[in-house]
Amino acid sequence: MLKKEQLYEGKAKKVYRTDNPDLYWIEYKDDATAFNGLKKGTIANKGELNNLISAYFFRLLAENGIESHFVEEKSEREMVVKSLQIIPVEVVVRNIAAGSLAKRLGLEEGTVMSRTVVENYYKSDELGDPLINSDHIRALNLATPEQMADIRAIALKVNEILRAHLAERELDLIDFKLEFGLHNGQLLLGDEISPDTCRFWDKNTKEKLDKDRFRRDLGNVEEAYKEVYRRLTGR
Ligand code: 5GP
Repeated sequence: MLKKEQLYEGKAKKVYRTDNPDLYWIEYKDDATAFNGLKKGTIANKGELNNLISAYFFRLLAENGIESHFVEEKSEREMVVKSLQIIPVEVVVRNIAAGSLAKRLGLEEGTVMSRTVVENYYKSDELGDPLINSDHIRALNLATPEQMADIRAIALKVNEILRAHLAERELDLIDFKLEFGLHNGQLLLGDEISPDTCRFWDKNTKEKLDKDRFRRDLGNVEEAYKEVYRRLTGR
């Protein structure tokens, strides 16, 4: 397979065409942004770590019956994926209150939710990804009710698989964001699953091992991403 011209450059990844119209070539970048692009920086080796961690999680999910766009790794910071028409809804799953949920509902960070919370956000940089509900999704024609029902079920299954796997590695899965898309009409999990898009806390010390270290200037950002990789792979 050949890497062809760049189609798109996002905040954390570049997307290239390949000689196969069904496949895209993704390159993960070290660039980091937060607060809708207001805070910018780089995290050394983030591209590699997020590529390897995402590939690890997509494989784990595939072994557990969840299909994603992931096809194969091409290098330390590159993977090939199935081309997706992205559904512009970001799906956030929350086990423990943190971030915008803690702020919005006045909950202390770390409060265990009595049940898992699934939220939908409209994927729009201009609007800053506003929280939306199923009526908004229907009114704006972002996805069908059947697609959203499937997406919710998959997101909850992903939560159970990741939560159990991480717990064995002394990590709490606080929350995470997923994106979905259509590949030749088939609904697939897309984007990435990494410390950029999830919150991971050490089970015992509650130390944050994710992008909040960058967002909140906590230091040791690269070390935190490496620690997640080490706990997953032993490397
Ligand atoms: P919050 O809404 O608390 O800011 O984020 C909830 C979870 O979803 C966190 O794990 C966060 O990393 C992830 N998340 C939500 N929106 C985005 C986004 O636009 N970009 C990234 N990288 N992660 C997001």
